[in-house]
Amino acid sequence: MTLNFELTEEQRLMQQTAREFALKEFTSQVAAEYEEKGEFPWELYRKCAKQGYIGMWWPSEYGGQDLSIVDSMLVAYELMKVQPCLAAAILAGTFGSDIIALFGTHDQKAKWLPRLAKGEITSSGCFTEPAGGSDLLRVLNTRAVKDGEYWVINGTKTFITNGTTASVFITLAQTDPKAERPHKGQTLFVIERGPGIQANLFRRKMGWHASPTAEVRFTNVRVRDEDIVGGISNLNRGFYMSLQYIDLVRCAIGFQSAAVAEAALECAISYCKEREAFGRKIGGFQALAFRIVEMATRIELLKSLCLRSAWLVEKARKEPALLKESIKLASMTKWYGAKTAVEACDLALDILAGYGYVESDVERWYRFAKMLEIGEGTKEIQKNTIARIILGRELTRTF
Ligand SMILES: Cc1cc2nc3c(=O)[nH]c(=O)nc-3n(C[C@H](O)[C@H](O)[C@H](O)COP(=O)(O)OP(=O)(O)OC[C@H]3O[C@@H](n4cnc5c(N)ncnc54)[C@H](O)[C@@H]3O)c2cc1C
Repeated sequence: MTLNFELTEEQRLMQQTAREFALKEFTSQVAAEYEEKGEFPWELYRKCAKQGYIGMWWPSEYGGQDLSIVDSMLVAYELMKVQPCLAAAILAGTFGSDIIALFGTHDQKAKWLPRLAKGEITSSGCFTEPAGGSDLLRVLNTRAVKDGEYWVINGTKTFITNGTTASVFITLAQTDPKAERPHKGQTLFVIERGPGIQANLFRRKMGWHASPTAEVRFTNVRVRDEDIVGGISNLNRGFYMSLQYIDLVRCAIGFQSAAVAEAALECAISYCKEREAFGRKIGGFQALAFRIVEMATRIELLKSLCLRSAWLVEKARKEPALLKESIKLASMTKWYGAKTAVEACDLALDILAGYGYVESDVERWYRFAKMLEIGEGTKEIQKNTIARIILGRELTRTF
């Protein structure tokens, strides 16, 4: 059997359409304006939805486009490469709701996914708590306690994307604090915005201002068994479902990272061809040329890793035996991707120098790229995951 690295005609067409759309809509000026205003780009979000760019891999029955994970990432990549933080803020408009698409009941999907895919509403995925985001293996402070036919939810989640705009919060809560291991007593709930939910926006943030980040407090919020993601049979299975979802998001962050890295590198390359110093174009200084060569090579590696990871994440859904490999690759993609994104922006800033530091796209991308190293598990957490799989649990149990 041959190994084929070529995209299909259909995939190339999808990429081209996405690129043309992004070049028209995501101008540098628009991106800078949203960043400065610190507002979620609702109008562009709806335009993207109209183009079919929201919930791309969701079933068409629920408003999606029935794309494969690989195809949806290829399209997202084209959108993000033009103005990474703006496109990422838009694509994160449905953050958390992939969990509904993956594991939800028909009623949960029918209630939420079509409205999200139309760009009418946004969603949040609530995992991190003020006491520590990396450690989901502890007993969570957000508790769901049974009271008759209701679950009563109390607790605080922090750094929540779309916390101030979301209509629905997919939330991990502790349902059995006495479980033999805490993560075996966690459940995912679909919580509609209503009384008892309060969100406080973080106003001082390093970057990614077009994507609202907030602390979300749940006070005596009442939900029912049917609000457990996938129904009552998924009681206390939330941690495991979150892991599969996080796999997908880590892979997506790899694509975001490749997009921002490539955008920054292209800026640096064009500048190298124009800017003169000491009587020659700065690209003629070998020290700079070599740094560009090294970065271009790493970005190529990253793009290959992203594609393989997306392919495997999808395949592992049908073949559970591949899950371990898919988790490993998604963590590698996330760690290596985010690191490459930060370093590519750093290189572009070095090359653009003063013009990179003030009022440039690159300075905005640099601040955004740093977030890619933190969200969905820091680099240390990714390395822990990879080490556990490569070296085995016994050797790494003290991590
Ligand atoms: C802009 C933004 C948006 C976000 N959006 C969301 C969202 O929508 N939903 C959500 O749930 N969360 C969200 N997060 C939270 C994000 O996922 C967490 O910040 C991240 O998981 C790290 O958690 P923490 O900040 O509590 O750091 P901590 O867990 O307190 O970690 C602090 C430091 O200790 C290190 N560390 C911790 N444990 C270990 C270990 N075992 N081994 C080695 N080092 C370790 C970490 O790597 C880090 O360097 C967002 C964060 C940001 C900044």
